[in-house]
Amino acid sequence: RVKEKWAATRTKHPPTSLALQHFDATYSIQLGKLWPSVRVALLSERKYGALLNNFSHDAVLAGLEAQGCRDFTSDTDTEAQTSEVSTEEESSCVSMKKSGADGQQLPPLQLSPHIKCSVFPRADIARFKPARPDMCGLLGYYLMDAASVLPCLALGVQEGHNVLDLCAAPGGKTLALLQTQCIGFLCVNDSSVSRTLRLKKVLHSYVPKQFLNDEKLRITSFDGTKWGEIERDTFDRVLVDVPCTTDRHSLMEDDNNIFSKNRTGERRKLPQLQLELLLAGIEAACPGGEIVYSTCTLSQTQNLSVVEQAIYLAREQHGINLQVSHTHTLNHISEILWFFGT
Ligand code: SAM
Repeated sequence: RVKEKWAATRTKHPPTSLALQHFDATYSIQLGKLWPSVRVALLSERKYGALLNNFSHDAVLAGLEAQGCRDFTSDTDTEAQTSEVSTEEESSCVSMKKSGADGQQLPPLQLSPHIKCSVFPRADIARFKPARPDMCGLLGYYLMDAASVLPCLALGVQEGHNVLDLCAAPGGKTLALLQTQCIGFLCVNDSSVSRTLRLKKVLHSYVPKQFLNDEKLRITSFDGTKWGEIERDTFDRVLVDVPCTTDRHSLMEDDNNIFSKNRTGERRKLPQLQLELLLAGIEAACPGGEIVYSTCTLSQTQNLSVVEQAIYLAREQHGINLQVSHTHTLNHISEILWFFGT
């Protein structure tokens, strides 16, 4: 710990405080009387989930269950909770189907199969032990925010699908998608070369080599906003997990914080970048294909507004119609994650 009286170099307004000020100003208006409880949730310990590695030879799930964890993706609690707010994690995820008749609702979501994520019971923030390698050196589980599994489930990957993960590093969601073991071809991209290297390391720690060959997987480091110029009308499923203000992280960590003064310009440009990435993802999807847009922020400017603009521009500039559904239709999967429709 830094002793306050010696910390002469400590900034008067650390980025974490600037983030909280910003959220107080915007979310108190956006969320109204819900904001105080959401604020407490954001400032609380995060809820980890252990994404089960189906490629591992160890009986990991049984071990985790013995510790009191359970796989929330197989939870069949059907009680609707659309008026509740997520106290475990802030994230947003919207699913879109390309070239449907305008204004129609999507049929009920078909979830991606075989993705399992184990969590400690509600309000229990016990820590998972680090995953251990099995006899082949593959780790048994990958720790990630439990809510980050939702976009992968919502993508509804089915047998033989051609899938694009447009902003993939460091690879938690790519790994979740690979757990389905039914993808025909997976194209993984992230514009950051260093983060793409991290992603490759993650995949090699969890997935056997035969699932990572050129016939099944391509890893690139392109600017995703230009994807429409590279490949159009190609993928059955596209995940667009965009860079955002990462709300909880921005309240916890001063290092490399998007609210630091020297990143103000970058932060202000986020909605435009998100819009361009989503439009590129829409273009990359084949007719009838589905796109999931996800963030880990509560910001309406980065969620609803981006999706609305993308739908408008896709129609006006590219003649593409989209049908939309929100993930609070995923309510039935669990009581661990609560949803709030905005
Ligand atoms: N999907 C990842 C996962 O589950 O581990 C997390 C993705 S993170 C929220 C957003 C990513 O977008 C960052 O890794 C960042 O490098 C990448 N990114 C930023 N701008 C991009 C661009 N123009 N094209 C592609 N990727 C971009």
